[in-house]
Amino acid sequence: MRYLENERRYETMVYNRSGASGLKLPAISLGLWHNFGGGDSYENGRAMVRRAFDLGITHFDLANNYGPPAGSAEETFGRILKQDIGHLRDEMVISTKAGYYMWPGPYGDWGSRKYLISSLDQSLKRLNLDYVDIFYHHRPDPETPLEETMAALDLVVRQGKALYVALSNYSPEQTRQASAILKSLGTPCLIHQVRYSMLERKIEEGLLDVLEEERIGCIAFSPLAKGMLTDRYFQGIPADSRAAGASIFLKPEELTEAVMAKTRQLNELAGRRGQKLSQMALAWVLRGGKVTSALIGASRVSQIDDAVGTLANMAFTDEELQQIDNILKG
Ligand code: NDP
Repeated sequence: MRYLENERRYETMVYNRSGASGLKLPAISLGLWHNFGGGDSYENGRAMVRRAFDLGITHFDLANNYGPPAGSAEETFGRILKQDIGHLRDEMVISTKAGYYMWPGPYGDWGSRKYLISSLDQSLKRLNLDYVDIFYHHRPDPETPLEETMAALDLVVRQGKALYVALSNYSPEQTRQASAILKSLGTPCLIHQVRYSMLERKIEEGLLDVLEEERIGCIAFSPLAKGMLTDRYFQGIPADSRAAGASIFLKPEELTEAVMAKTRQLNELAGRRGQKLSQMALAWVLRGGKVTSALIGASRVSQIDDAVGTLANMAFTDEELQQIDNILKG
């Protein structure tokens, strides 16, 4: 059926400025790491992207290696653009990345200029786009000089293949150095993409301060701890969940008694706030304004509805925040 976009799509979503840039991102962004691969249902992925866009989620996050097989999530998204929403390209922020293994030999991984430029060219072909909005270096490369990697990011902007560049998984010190180089080249770092959730708070130990000092945005990936901060696992491991599936990125062993005890208590607190646990987890990541966007994953349309439902209650009392800290300390 032909897609007709929701005319009210901008009425509920909140848009936050990324650092000191001119770009605003939706408080909730959608990542295509899981459930958009070659073996996944195309119609389900398509329905999720359409619903997201209809709810004001303008930002879609990809990487060269998302699938499986690697590259297929970009192909899926390219197909959805062509079929449904491509005529609204200027209303979207589409990101991709390079930094992990993509093809054999010495030029298909890490952070050389050779790899980054070739990889982005391949991504643009798969997406069937002339440019992406944000191009990330996906992880730091211990061997390539940082100057070379950052110069490659600067180059893709000058070539018109990306509008902004960004970093992911860099340490606070690496971020500071990379940011200085990018500033000197005239292409400041837009945003840093990093893991952050109630179960993973490392960025509070330094990175958030660096981002604030450097005026770089922050986009938090896996804000639901890959599904652990939801009601998904309270009655065991459902057959259609990430923990039960082929993904190696959430193993049943991670759902320990200790984690489940915490998530059950958090779930009760969320209930008292009139929210689902997943919604409280997203509101918590966005509390205080240091995080520009919470980057969720989803396996079905209802999970996108849940995520956007978070916006109905984003406020925490000091007492609630204290209660959450106490539960997490266990
Ligand atoms: P989340 O922590 O949001 O986990 C998403 C999963 O949680 C879903 O696939 C679903 O799992 C479950 N879920 C979501 N909503 C609900 C709900 N309302 N109720 C119950 N279960 C729910 O994020 P991801 O780990 O998927 O990562 C998000 C994005 O972050 C990725 O797509 C990618 O773009 C980015 N990312 C970046 C990385 C980097 O190195 N830069 C690394 C990892 C991710 P189920 O399938 O069980 O339904």
